[in-house]
Amino acid sequence: MEIKFYSGTNQIGASCFEVRSQGGGRILFDYGKPLDSVGAAPQLDDCNMIDGVFISHPHQDHYGFINELPKQIPFYMSETGSKLIKLSQRLSSAAHKAYDNKTIFLNSGKSVKVKDIEIIPFMADHSAIGALSFLIKADGKSIFYSADFRFTGRKPYTSSTLEQYFEKHKEKIDYLILEGTHIEKENASPKTEEQLEKEIVDFLKKPDKLTFVYASGQNIDRFVTFYRAAIRTKKILVIDLYMAYILDTLNIPTLPKSQSNNILRFPYKEQVRQFKRAKLSEYTDKFLKTYTKKDKEINANPSKYIFLLRSSMLSGKNEFNEINVKNANLIYSMWAGYQNKDDYKKTIGNWIDKNNILKKDMHISGHADIEALKKLVDIVKPQNIIPFHTNNPETFKKHWDNVRIVKDKEILEV
Ligand SMILES: [Zn+2]
Ligand SMILES: [Zn+2]
Repeated sequence: MEIKFYSGTNQIGASCFEVRSQGGGRILFDYGKPLDSVGAAPQLDDCNMIDGVFISHPHQDHYGFINELPKQIPFYMSETGSKLIKLSQRLSSAAHKAYDNKTIFLNSGKSVKVKDIEIIPFMADHSAIGALSFLIKADGKSIFYSADFRFTGRKPYTSSTLEQYFEKHKEKIDYLILEGTHIEKENASPKTEEQLEKEIVDFLKKPDKLTFVYASGQNIDRFVTFYRAAIRTKKILVIDLYMAYILDTLNIPTLPKSQSNNILRFPYKEQVRQFKRAKLSEYTDKFLKTYTKKDKEINANPSKYIFLLRSSMLSGKNEFNEINVKNANLIYSMWAGYQNKDDYKKTIGNWIDKNNILKKDMHISGHADIEALKKLVDIVKPQNIIPFHTNNPETFKKHWDNVRIVKDKEILEV
């Protein structure tokens, strides 16, 4: 077996590598954009001959270039992942085009075969729902690709699932391709999503004000955190069309529906237009038909509401202008680095300053801390560890002595 690393060996993002078997099987794992979105897709060797593309999860740095792949190559991913990728692609202002390659949906623990390569997907705990790690077997060799993961989210049992599998099968793993987003953070003692929820509840109990939340709509773990915090503090969570569409389309029994009791739906012009451009008119019209305007009620009882904020609410004249936002609170619940981007400064940052908003950062990462990385290594017991999805591949050597550093475009004989 061979692994060709196209990109992602020395950066967080642009994940992409290919596994080739002696029998001629060729599978690509992820085809992601760099995090800053600068740079072209890596040139793939004879890409029409690729037998399948496995996508670990619906984050751009793992799927961003898939629309450039030939249409006849089948994709493999979770059904949830596929729904979210298609939604993002439709809504993107540039193309509005969702991929239409045939997609085979993967289920955790269910093995699939592509030519002579066997792949077993495992559900991963990550800030994207539907995330997977992959066990890859061919020519008597095995690789485990962690992709992005953590053990502190709302699926902490993913570690025990792996433990049970590896104990039962005594699988010898030749290479573990291990994400190392936080490899250099030595003494981080990470919170769990549940601990974060408790801190948010405590914060919400105090202020007698309207509280805004700035978080990614596709981080479903975090949505659940705010939804639960709303219930625990007897508040109403105000969501936009985007969040409503995600909840209704994913249709996951354990998630609330957009018309649940303590959810209030809030459409606004910009987003309605965006949804119609994306050919999601049918959903949008249904949404608008069942919607009642509540801005006066929110202004009269601001402390009863938690309001999910989108930057597009702040552009142009729309229904959001009728909400009294002066001196409100904002919980910032995303990667802190976004706050240095121009986009953020011009929209949310500017809005915070202008309206005297009190901002509080409350967030935990979707990525493994050192403890989680060590735990995964102990479970998988690989012969070799390949640093991936990291800015600091050399730092891996501080923690393990069987680290094999690879470079972009390198081919590794397994
Ligand atoms: Zn990633
Ligand atoms: Zn990710």
